[in-house]
Amino acid sequence: MADPVDAPGLSDLPLEDVVACHECDLLMRKPPLARGEKAICPRCGYELYAHRHNVVRRSLALVITALLLYVPANFLPIMQLNLLGQTSHDTVWTGVVGLFNSGMQGVAVVVFLCSMAIPLLKLLCQLAVLLSIRLDIGRNYGLLLYRIYHHLRDWGMLEVYLMGVLVAIVKLVDMASVSLGLGLACFISLLLIQAWLEVVMSPHQIWQALSGEDAHAGD
Ligand SMILES: [Zn+2]
Repeated sequence: MADPVDAPGLSDLPLEDVVACHECDLLMRKPPLARGEKAICPRCGYELYAHRHNVVRRSLALVITALLLYVPANFLPIMQLNLLGQTSHDTVWTGVVGLFNSGMQGVAVVVFLCSMAIPLLKLLCQLAVLLSIRLDIGRNYGLLLYRIYHHLRDWGMLEVYLMGVLVAIVKLVDMASVSLGLGLACFISLLLIQAWLEVVMSPHQIWQALSGEDAHAGD
């Protein structure tokens, strides 16, 4: 656990030695962590930061897996719909095209950005950041891309898209025969891999590695 900083001593500490809790704003002295340890806020129990093993190697494996899943998740059928003798195979991409062709161009662009373009950009930024640390080249560009990644995080909304798909499936089951496609399995796997990646790719260690403070973060 981190030590809370009492108000009078706070001004004496250099800024790099102080950390604020994201959840409850408590200011604390930054505890040095050994490998595998994590710092927990003593007031609310939120994880301040962690020192994980093999951050870059494990994150790289997850990013590459996510990129491999991205193509089938978007271009294989999410579901097959059989209504009045007509069968349609719906993918995320045909959904975007369908919205565009039915006069909802604005909605189509938003769905395209939030469910296809931004998630892909996020993964490519993460890949470039990790490669710049792993290969020790272009860390300044890595720093810039990691900043962009943090801005993009608010705009990728795969979870919302998945909820929409699930609600549609539940509603359509009574009206038509619906069978789930391989695309849905890839889509759910992609979401799970991204959630796992968020946990593994500890921002504290990535920022440190990018700014060259921690030479061992790439281990
Ligand atoms: Zn807290």
